[in-house]
Amino acid sequence: MMNTRVDLFSARVPRYTSYPTAPHFHPGVTSATMREWLANLPEGLPLSLYLHIPFCDTLCWFCGCHTTVVNRYSPVQSYLQNLLAEIATMGPLVKGHKVTHLHWGGGSPTMLAPDDVRKVKKALDEAFDFAPDAEFAVEIDPRGMKQEMITALAECGLNRASIGVQDFDPKVQKAINRIQPYDETKAVVDALRAAGVASLNIDLIYGLPHQTNANVARTIELALTLKPQRFAVFGYAHVPHFKKHMQLIPEDALPQAEERFEQFELAHSLLSSAGYVAVGLDHFAVPEDSMAIAMKDGSLQRNFQGYTSDDAPALIGLGASSISALPQGYVQNKPEVPEWRKDVEAGELPVARGIALSEDDKLRRGIIEKLMCFLEVDLSAFGKSTGDFPAEMEALAPLIQEGFVVVDGAVLKVPQTARAAVRLVASVFDSYLAKSKAVHAVAV
Ligand code: SF4
Repeated sequence: MMNTRVDLFSARVPRYTSYPTAPHFHPGVTSATMREWLANLPEGLPLSLYLHIPFCDTLCWFCGCHTTVVNRYSPVQSYLQNLLAEIATMGPLVKGHKVTHLHWGGGSPTMLAPDDVRKVKKALDEAFDFAPDAEFAVEIDPRGMKQEMITALAECGLNRASIGVQDFDPKVQKAINRIQPYDETKAVVDALRAAGVASLNIDLIYGLPHQTNANVARTIELALTLKPQRFAVFGYAHVPHFKKHMQLIPEDALPQAEERFEQFELAHSLLSSAGYVAVGLDHFAVPEDSMAIAMKDGSLQRNFQGYTSDDAPALIGLGASSISALPQGYVQNKPEVPEWRKDVEAGELPVARGIALSEDDKLRRGIIEKLMCFLEVDLSAFGKSTGDFPAEMEALAPLIQEGFVVVDGAVLKVPQTARAAVRLVASVFDSYLAKSKAVHAVAV
């Protein structure tokens, strides 16, 4: 039985970037299902697009992304040919829907040659109908980034850059195989701003090997000098049986549960003191940023990138392994490039699996999303009360006892001081978790 705070934080629970979570997707959802769901999208429903570039030039040992290391450009180039074909196949299926948000992730989208960035953006512009004020965000690896790349992205309308930093301490960087001096990061930040990219996000990670409270504080101090509009502060998820390269991380140098918790709290307190608004579990934004505003006005959403102020109710994923989130359910593309390519070349949607949402899934998804975004859910907004969830309330008892959640009528609220426990509280409403064989990261 779990009975201490550390035991509770050591519980392995999903991050709930979707519900049901990806391990519950199944091959019963096919390309025919996806075509039918797209055809039945409500007229004029706004869309969000996600484009996956699954290549990097070196492997960071903490990485949990779907990516492959390449030391030649030819695999990237041939992937791009297929990606252009997938874009051309998808565009006509969502005619009449405005795209309000475009996100390129990976892998490293900045692996692309500058002219290929232009080519992909042109293909997207031709295939989809973008809203005039659409957001265009790209994940950026600053290491070795050239001015031509920044120019190409700016020309294509990039207006939000998400910059991977993780930690500035050289010893930590060595232990995760990601050497990235502060000066190199600052030069990229300055060049992006000079090119007119106004909004910047910085990704940091706690729980890395050799990290201490002192170097988390120093990293945040340095990162604050870059004045980003947003921070994302993720906990390192050590799953070496699932991601073999994580075996290269020295396990004896990993902070333990109590230290991880302290690092999480420290990041929260330093960023809050610096004037950032805490958003959901692990994001922070300046008060005038759209994410902080969405947090305040109740429109914040959870998605595969973490949190978003983009309120498009449908997300289309393009590229190997990407996931689409539609009102009817989730659909994942084939994760391995050769299989994905075969379908794309045949003009087919490269679907591997997915899940159709039942009414119960939709209810639980709504409750979990509210908790993950706002640390609070009013069950009466879903036409329910605590009495409708007897098993869940029983499972919440130890969390209530620890002060991780407060129940007031139909409202469940995670106090600010227990923010780190929100995934645990949300997991109580996950009806798939008990049946799951998937291994998740620890709660903090
Ligand atoms: S650059 Fe990003 S995607 Fe590539 S290995 Fe490093 S963390 Fe993973």
